[in-house]
Amino acid sequence: MSEALRAALRRGWCPGALRPMATGDGLLVRLHPPGGRLNLADLRLVARLARETGNGLVDLTGRGNLQIRGVGAASHGDLVAGLIEGGLVDADEDVGPYRLTLVSPLAGRDPTDLADAGALAAGIEALRRSVPGLPAKTGIVVDGGGCLSLDDVPADLRIRAVAPDGVLIGLAGDRWFGPLALGAVPGVVGPLLSGLATLHRARPEHVRRMRDVPEQDIATLFASHGVQPTRAPPARPGPLQAGSFREAGETTAILFGAPFGRCTASQIGSLADIAQAAGAADIRLSPWRGLAMTGLAATEAVVARIAALGFITAPGDPRLAVRACPGAPACSRGETAAQEDAVRFAAAAARRLAGGMTLHVSGCAKGCAQPGIADVTLVGHDGAYHIVLDGTAGDLPFARRTAVDLASDLACEGDFRRHLQGVSSS
Ligand code: SF4
Repeated sequence: MSEALRAALRRGWCPGALRPMATGDGLLVRLHPPGGRLNLADLRLVARLARETGNGLVDLTGRGNLQIRGVGAASHGDLVAGLIEGGLVDADEDVGPYRLTLVSPLAGRDPTDLADAGALAAGIEALRRSVPGLPAKTGIVVDGGGCLSLDDVPADLRIRAVAPDGVLIGLAGDRWFGPLALGAVPGVVGPLLSGLATLHRARPEHVRRMRDVPEQDIATLFASHGVQPTRAPPARPGPLQAGSFREAGETTAILFGAPFGRCTASQIGSLADIAQAAGAADIRLSPWRGLAMTGLAATEAVVARIAALGFITAPGDPRLAVRACPGAPACSRGETAAQEDAVRFAAAAARRLAGGMTLHVSGCAKGCAQPGIADVTLVGHDGAYHIVLDGTAGDLPFARRTAVDLASDLACEGDFRRHLQGVSSS
């Protein structure tokens, strides 16, 4: 064990990396880069460590995190030591949440944003360290209010800029309070988080999210700061998860996706080479299981190189509209090869997905890739799929079909539900 690792253990650093999760393909180690930002050295380190200590697979999560997969018990110590030495583990990590905030991958660079969400999020992260005992999955979306909407990203709290010095704070159930000046946000969010932590410590099984805090307590807290309930801010169209975006300062950022959030150490290493050759400012994790490369003077050749690596660069790619967990064999609970099948399903359902249908392919009833409702959820069961309509992976199935049958079902003409009724009763 290296001295850096010993020192980290002594100080209780980095349990996110120190307490990996056992999965079907070995240990999974999750990283939470501050602000979701990575420089070239970070990318190369992740690529090297994923190759040397894991099975070479890397996940990009829906919360802007990175996961190194397939880490062996014997190589885990080397991975942690490498992460600490490379500064990829936050020295202030405790038992979680490791990073509270999620911002647009273009935060601070998007000329359509009304306020700098990155700066606001950094202030909230500083606040987090003074609030012990928060539930591990607490999440706050900090939205600059520009064209890259984060409205589809789940969160306990949403802070949305509605003016250069004004934000609204949103809670579950589309309840909004405000407006507040940017400088007043920590003074309100701090007590909200403290209240959640206190209730969670007292009743950990019952209070896990901000929505579990009594509405009246929240309203009273806002009122004590002179903040009143208000109308929801205007809805914005769903964000383009892939494409080119003009930045402030006349440079361009490219947003691109990893199919179902999965990529390899070799792809990550190649991205670093592309970013370096193109003079990119940095690489950022997006909440849509993808990445952004920022600060580019020209994009056409860069997009072509990124696409050639296997990333999704076309905004209309149907895979962007599908949620799929790793499934078998990566996950020991997987009853089907969910990601492999999802490629076929996405292609078959391309017309429907373009029309707005939501599709979730899950290797089992746990539904890790999408806890919420989808129009169509396909749940792996004993080598085939249970079909749930307008529900979650844990809901009662409507029918059972093989992957081969489903590929043709999803491509059928006419009403999908009527088609399913026909084939499942025949
Ligand atoms: S949904 Fe099931 S198969 Fe998929 S990752 Fe979660 S536990 Fe594994």
